[in-house]
Amino acid sequence: MRFHFSVTVQHDAPEFPLGMLQTAIESQDECNAWNALANQRIRSELVCSTTTHKVPSGSQQQKCNVFTCVEAAVHCNMPRIVLAMYQLSPADVRLATWYALYNLKSKHKTKRSSVVYPLQIASELANLARSQRKIWLWERVGPLLLVRNCDILARKDRGSAMLGQTKSCRDWEALAAHPITRLPDLAFGLILSFVALPEAKEARILRFLIEARLCQKCSRLCIPGKCKAKRLRRMERRGPKARS
Ligand SMILES: [Zn+2]
Repeated sequence: MRFHFSVTVQHDAPEFPLGMLQTAIESQDECNAWNALANQRIRSELVCSTTTHKVPSGSQQQKCNVFTCVEAAVHCNMPRIVLAMYQLSPADVRLATWYALYNLKSKHKTKRSSVVYPLQIASELANLARSQRKIWLWERVGPLLLVRNCDILARKDRGSAMLGQTKSCRDWEALAAHPITRLPDLAFGLILSFVALPEAKEARILRFLIEARLCQKCSRLCIPGKCKAKRLRRMERRGPKARS
């Protein structure tokens, strides 16, 4: 039944519009990839993705989304294609580039893969991945810096309040009493050095997003060959306490 559905869908409109782009990239001919990128349906899909969270209807069907296309372009050494995609979908392509490079790095480290990947990563792509790390870093460090410097904001607020521009500066003053504002610079620097980037966690989430399929064993979404039913059953037996 599911097979019939998949065929009908493919005939009318592709289930994964970016499949055409991925095939073009994997042909190793950059001209094909540029032609695919000129296609309006592909451009629209990149600008407003409908397939990032979509699970293929067929168990053997390949999933094609911005992550798989960027990964293919990285493997086929087509940095200009990645950058063109970035113009259309900056946040997704930045994250996808980080993911592709992270995977290359970890595969290289564990020597898990027999595939030969480009040895030289284009500096533009390395920068894109680095900017993703900076975004994460800022998300974690930003609130700490804000608390640390809130006395400056409290002073500004007090000045405005005197001029009748703001009602109250009590919130900043409460924050200004936080111990973090009184730490010596050296100690605060030490705290910042412990801020860890959530790279492994993000990679796990993205891997699930890209590879999960409807599992024949447990009827849930699982990464093929890594059914999580056993682990879930074990957790259920241990009860809610074990989970927290
Ligand atoms: Zn399963």
